[in-house]
Amino acid sequence: MTDVIHLLPDHVANQIAAGEVVQRPASVIKELLENSIDAGATNIKVLIKEAGKTLIQVTDNGKGMSLTDARLCFERHATSKINSAEDLFSLKTKGFRGEALASIAAIAHVELKTIQNDDEVGTCIKIEGSEVVSQGACVTPEGTTLCVKNLFYNIPARRNFLKSDTVELRHIIDEFQRVALAHPAIQFSLFHNGSELFQLPETNLRQRIVNIFGGKTNEKLVPVEEDTEIVKVSGFVGKPEFAKKSRGEQFFFVNDRFIKSPYLNHAVTAAFEGLLKDKAYPSYFLYLQVDPKSIDINIHPTKTEIKFDDEHSLYTILRSAIKHSLGQFNVAPVLDFDRDATLDTPYEFSNKGPVPPKVEVDPNFNPFQNERSGGYSSSGFRKEKSSGSWESLYTDFDQKDFSTPSAINQVEFESDEVTGNLFGQSEEKSSGSTTFQLNKKYIVSTLKSGILVIDQHRAHSRILYEELLKNITVTSAVSQQLLFPLRLQFSTNEMELLKENKESLEQTGFIFGNFSKDSVEITGIPTLISESEVAILLEQLLSDLENEVPGSSFSQIDILAKSLAKGMAVKSGTLLNSEEQQNIVNSLFACKESTLSPYNRPIFITLTVDELDKKFM
Ligand code: ADP
Ligand code: MG
Repeated sequence: MTDVIHLLPDHVANQIAAGEVVQRPASVIKELLENSIDAGATNIKVLIKEAGKTLIQVTDNGKGMSLTDARLCFERHATSKINSAEDLFSLKTKGFRGEALASIAAIAHVELKTIQNDDEVGTCIKIEGSEVVSQGACVTPEGTTLCVKNLFYNIPARRNFLKSDTVELRHIIDEFQRVALAHPAIQFSLFHNGSELFQLPETNLRQRIVNIFGGKTNEKLVPVEEDTEIVKVSGFVGKPEFAKKSRGEQFFFVNDRFIKSPYLNHAVTAAFEGLLKDKAYPSYFLYLQVDPKSIDINIHPTKTEIKFDDEHSLYTILRSAIKHSLGQFNVAPVLDFDRDATLDTPYEFSNKGPVPPKVEVDPNFNPFQNERSGGYSSSGFRKEKSSGSWESLYTDFDQKDFSTPSAINQVEFESDEVTGNLFGQSEEKSSGSTTFQLNKKYIVSTLKSGILVIDQHRAHSRILYEELLKNITVTSAVSQQLLFPLRLQFSTNEMELLKENKESLEQTGFIFGNFSKDSVEITGIPTLISESEVAILLEQLLSDLENEVPGSSFSQIDILAKSLAKGMAVKSGTLLNSEEQQNIVNSLFACKESTLSPYNRPIFITLTVDELDKKFM
């Protein structure tokens, strides 16, 4: 028998590791910038030539290295930043793997010049393909300069794989911006082929954003601030009207490290929900500070992915913090004409869990004399109506919750009685509780100052969409068990999609039995749909998912919620009794966004008395 296993020489191992750490010039920039920051630099200068393919040079004024350290730093697993595995849970530095310099030195010509604060002379080392070619003392100003030339010179396949200078430069700028945004207190500059691209002075966060993205950015920023036990959130979101067609300006930083998180991105998008035009992406610059113990950043060598202990809470906190800011800074949508500050935060109501109206359960309820009828018809309600139009909708729901059918009965009953007896004026009819259906398509609701015509299908879609999103991301829905399991046939493609979305669907109330190659068994379905609708609903869903460009998990969830909502919502042509109509109106205005359907179509139109008056002139 012959032995065939042997250990790889260091330079080969380093080259292999480099494949993970260094994908392109931008990865080198990121690693070098992070090392400079870890070294305590307050001024970092980056010079590149030909998009980093021929030269990347990073100069810092950090603490520098001793002679021995300068030699050691190019060894694999050589780091000054951690000593034991436990240290991984209290990381304060960007680096910790001790891999970057070893990897870079394996695939480029590298020159290091470094000096420690109180030393007279510094150290200069040249390395090519992991081999030290020269080493000596040299004169150098403070800090460290690392010069990386001819990246991938010894791996032609990787070098040929690099994209055009424009593309590679774009990647470099992205990395540079991410680091610069995470550290506004550090001065950064970037030069390409001799011309200055960025010159960023030491400043605060807002100013740093403006310095990077231009003067006009300032007016677009809405501050976000939230301090809780598990996370401190700060930073800015862009006003919805400035949302972009591409995902360009979206940044999350966790403990000053740029990270990517489709899940948290979804939280932000959820906070913006309904405020954005179709296919627009909100800008955000969000900084989360969490206990280093509660995260794991050692998932991938590039460290842009992160695992949180308590993702769900982060999601909720982030979303509500942003919603709050958007509301506070008057950028939430308002039902326009008589704009009133109290209307700018309607989402608050939808964030509150349903609280059954207290009076409803009172067995001694008497519509003619209990305190609620007074509160409802005269005091709070009317006083707040000074500007006279839409508050009725919100103030009304603020005080009560109509989400249970019994509540709705009661309210209607009470309202009718009270109007008839205590006030006897038609005006009271306008307190938001009178509805009728037009053409089995629209729900018409009267208000004090006009009428509201609601598209029943769109309104119901919106209500279900928000509920489904909540089911998928926060609390799962209940299911109805099927007496006889259904078996549905699908194509291979569709089966793949179904499997991919199984979890989300389960959150909405589906229960799946076994999956075979071309069929699936369904043993439970959401309570809101009937068994006969399941096949059509899933078919529609799969076709919607198929027709969407595959992207982040967020868009899948969104498509899923939209598609199911569309399928489950009452159709035009369905007769609704007054309880159902009322239920839709009330639930609609308890939504975070009540003006637009999930597909961004208007849900209702209004006709004010003024407008009517004009028509009669
Ligand atoms: P890591 O950052 O994970 O420790 P690196 O390979 O990036 O691994 O760097 C190895 C070590 O070299 C660092 O731990 C640090 O001690 C030293 N070092 C690298 N860059 C600098 C710098 N710009 N200034 C001072 N020390 C540095
Ligand atoms: Mg490093």
